[in-house]
Amino acid sequence: MSLSSLPNLPVQPSRLQADLDALQVITDPDLPYTRPAFSDLDIQGRKWLKAQMENAGLEVHVDTAANLIGRRKGLSSKHPVIMMGSHIDTVRSGGRFDGIIGVLGALEVIRTLNDVGWTTQHDIEVVNFTCEEPNAFSISPLGSKLMSGAVTAEQVRRAELADGTTLSSLIDRLGGDHQNLEDVLRGTQDIHGYLELHIEQGPVLERKQIPLGVVTAIAAPLRATVTLSGVADHSGATMMNERYDALCAAAEVVLAVERLCGNPEITDTVGTIGHIEVSPNMVNIIPGLVELRVDIRSTKQEFLDKLQGEFEAEVTRIAHRRSIEHDLSWTSIEEPVPIPNKMQQLVMEACQDLGYPFEHLPSRAAHDASRISDISPVGMIFVPCKDGKSHTPEEWANIDDIARGTEVLGRSLLKLDAELV
Ligand SMILES: [Zn+2]
Repeated sequence: MSLSSLPNLPVQPSRLQADLDALQVITDPDLPYTRPAFSDLDIQGRKWLKAQMENAGLEVHVDTAANLIGRRKGLSSKHPVIMMGSHIDTVRSGGRFDGIIGVLGALEVIRTLNDVGWTTQHDIEVVNFTCEEPNAFSISPLGSKLMSGAVTAEQVRRAELADGTTLSSLIDRLGGDHQNLEDVLRGTQDIHGYLELHIEQGPVLERKQIPLGVVTAIAAPLRATVTLSGVADHSGATMMNERYDALCAAAEVVLAVERLCGNPEITDTVGTIGHIEVSPNMVNIIPGLVELRVDIRSTKQEFLDKLQGEFEAEVTRIAHRRSIEHDLSWTSIEEPVPIPNKMQQLVMEACQDLGYPFEHLPSRAAHDASRISDISPVGMIFVPCKDGKSHTPEEWANIDDIARGTEVLGRSLLKLDAELV
């Protein structure tokens, strides 16, 4: 099939807007915009989404990991599917666009295919992945990890909170089936390509006034918990040269992260200590114990490796010099995901076909695409968001930008469909 014969997909901003409006009111009214995975609100949102999928003519099913999947038949089911998706769950006091436009954009693409009466060669799946955002079990993104095998069914079945809540029970609550979680696993033969539209969650596109981003790589987080144990003592009676102050050591560790990650030779890398617990946390007691959690992200594996070593050495050095004890454990070591050139090219050409300016840029946040990349070529399309803000009620993306992103999503899908395996 020649690419010039591909149809123009008539994306309707008003339909996208109506969907965004409908979903944004499914929130905790006192805490907009809050629709946490597994909550009643999530169930309500998914029910609404299922109805929209059915209205668009999709065959809808919920897989055993509770991923909500709508399928549109292609000319032949012999081929692997092409998948588009993201997530509609939110963090607490999150936004109306993160993840959501990836699902609603995919749905709009399906409606435009219906409008022009186009049948793709491959079956198309629109997926709302279960629980992309962090959960109390520290297994996220959940649905895409189960689908790709990044987490095993057994690990998920073992996940339980101190109060006895199991992850299995929550998955079942959404219509999944924890006893058969293995069934969601897909292999490299099953998916021809995966496309995800997302807000940038950063300021680059807005600052440059460029409507579209072609994502080049997805950064991965490296996370550690550090415990520093000094000696708690009276703040008045203990002289300065006789102290083993864990918080002073922690302060040095915080600044070390800033210095190490701010090294100008290390690009595309950020580091944060966003969590700190001080004990006993009293005004008249020298802090005896501090726990810190560090989050370092980069799109380059070599930098993560380097920083992992440097950070460990720095914590050891600080603790030794202050004669206090320390413990460091890496809680998450993930690898950055390079987006295959072929998929970048595809999205870029889709932008060019439509006459939209674009910019290549990395994603600093993780996405469902990060995990699906283990089993399929993935492509990601970014649209600008106001002031680069995300995971906050102020998160905002312009409907015209979302519509353009949806057009690029649709065009990329058609291009991917035009090539057979
Ligand atoms: Zn997201």
